[in-house]
Amino acid sequence: MSILSKFGETKLAKNAAKWMTDNRGLVVAATALPVSFLFERGRVTRDVLYARFGASPEKHDERVRYVQEQVRARNASGSDQPMCTARPPWLTMSTRTSTYKKDCNHIEVALRDVLEVDTERMTVRVEPLVNMGQLTRYLVPMGYALKVMVEMEDLTAGGLTMGLGMETTCHRYGLIQETVVAYEIVTADGSFLRVTAESDPELFNALPWSHGTLGFLVAVELEIEPVKPYIRMKYIPCHSMKELCDRTYELSIADDAPEFLEATIYSKDTGVIQCAWYDDAPADRSKINHINRWYEKFFYQHVETALQRGEFEDWIPLREYYHRHTRSIFWELEELMPFSTKTWWRWGFGWLGAPKISLLKGTMTEGIRWKLVHKHVVQDIIVPMRELERSVEEFHERFEVYPLLVYPIRIYNHGEHQGLQPNPRQLQPGKDWDMFVDLGAYGIPPALKRGEEWDAEEHVAATERFTHEVGGFVPLYQDVWMNRTQFEEMFDHGLYRRMREKLGAVGAFPEVWDKVRLQPKWRTDKSFVEREEPAESEPAQRSATASN
Ligand SMILES: Cc1cc2nc3c(=O)[nH]c(=O)nc-3n(C[C@H](O)[C@H](O)[C@H](O)COP(=O)(O)OP(=O)(O)OC[C@H]3O[C@@H](n4cnc5c(N)ncnc54)[C@H](O)[C@@H]3O)c2cc1C
Repeated sequence: MSILSKFGETKLAKNAAKWMTDNRGLVVAATALPVSFLFERGRVTRDVLYARFGASPEKHDERVRYVQEQVRARNASGSDQPMCTARPPWLTMSTRTSTYKKDCNHIEVALRDVLEVDTERMTVRVEPLVNMGQLTRYLVPMGYALKVMVEMEDLTAGGLTMGLGMETTCHRYGLIQETVVAYEIVTADGSFLRVTAESDPELFNALPWSHGTLGFLVAVELEIEPVKPYIRMKYIPCHSMKELCDRTYELSIADDAPEFLEATIYSKDTGVIQCAWYDDAPADRSKINHINRWYEKFFYQHVETALQRGEFEDWIPLREYYHRHTRSIFWELEELMPFSTKTWWRWGFGWLGAPKISLLKGTMTEGIRWKLVHKHVVQDIIVPMRELERSVEEFHERFEVYPLLVYPIRIYNHGEHQGLQPNPRQLQPGKDWDMFVDLGAYGIPPALKRGEEWDAEEHVAATERFTHEVGGFVPLYQDVWMNRTQFEEMFDHGLYRRMREKLGAVGAFPEVWDKVRLQPKWRTDKSFVEREEPAESEPAQRSATASN
């Protein structure tokens, strides 16, 4: 037995493990946070230097040829393993497990350049690994942004257009795929295709939500819009859920809807609607709110003040608005490091920012992963807006986690070209869309903090069933508890399967289900938790640290 494993058996080591589990927030603050800070500074510096000296859009075709060569080499080798991108799962933002990757041929799709901004056609063409932080740094100084300019800086154009891309402009434009002008893909036989709504309407509509199972995305062209340097924000407090749901619905479908619209729900009866418009700097400079300065309250806490203050307005610099939740990972940072909201932390250490999701994922043990699945909620549902009040009640009953995220989203009816994303069951009068809403809960259910039983499988699976019953669907970046039949009832596979046959993708790429389903071991096998569980830990303490 080695000295290290002997040490692992000692009482000292067990006590140390227990202390580290019980004080996970401090451990993260002392380790993952400084590393994340250096990682992030390095990444931003690299991106800026890369954009200035290293970017090589002119070599895009060469990079695409390299992807094609790898695909052809895999085919020539006679391999029967399907293909996937070589991007390590811990680097992606999706919280679900990506164990399918270990059984795949890894194809390097390391394309990360902005290729072209066309201000006449109002489009930007980007490679798939271009992320949102990189894109706002590029486009905003030119006076433009994506029509659906997604919040977290690390989310990529490829992941958002092949998976889910939503933001606070979706009540005007729909999900990000509705703003795609062209997808450029490399298919299973190594061919290159540029797909537009005109060139191939079937494939064009089958690509969103296909999660890279029809081909590798090598570029995507997205619509942009002109912007102004500030966002004028109006915060509207609501003291009943009916008031919040009715007003958000009215605002979202109005002809003069606000340019940006979201709501944050703080309890069963309270929430704040946020309406916003592009604007110039206000005459009264004291109304400017630099929400992303390290010492400021997190955005969701600032919004919450409207419940006491009443309705008010302020002006947020545009780029700070776009990335208003990055610093606090929406409200997950408070769950991970409860002291991160305290004044002393913000002024003293707030400049360290938030730990990177990738680092937290990359350093996660199997036991922590199991606890994340079973003792922590990351649950979004996309349901018709008229079901919002019922959905909030459902979330309260199942999770009781607050705040809740509310993003109104137009869901278009694509008729016979319906891809995996379901068509709405009913439409707004005279329109080809209905207003849906993303409702998101992130955090540890209070029942667990109180030391009570809480069965993730029961509650999440029930929420998925509820979502399907009311004509909604669930994003696939999170854990999916449905079985395959339920999954195919929620997501129509007709067009998708036809396209897989046509493109020779069957066997060459996994199916979406194989990528997103919750692997059986995460449902049942607790052995790795028992291995890692500190012996003397109290149930309530264990629960409180479980998400970390
Ligand atoms: C903290 C947090 C905040 C989030 N906030 C938002 C938000 O504000 N708005 C929002 O819409 N979503 C949000 N998400 C979810 C996010 O939409 C998904 O994770 C998403 O799919 C994009 O993440 P990614 O860029 O890391 O893509 P990935 O997870 O890497 O990719 C998503 C899918 O697309 C496939 N894919 C990626 N690139 C390619 C390619 N080149 N070719 C073929 N297939 C490819 C991947 O294989 C994968 O199946 C958030 C997630 C987290 C954890």
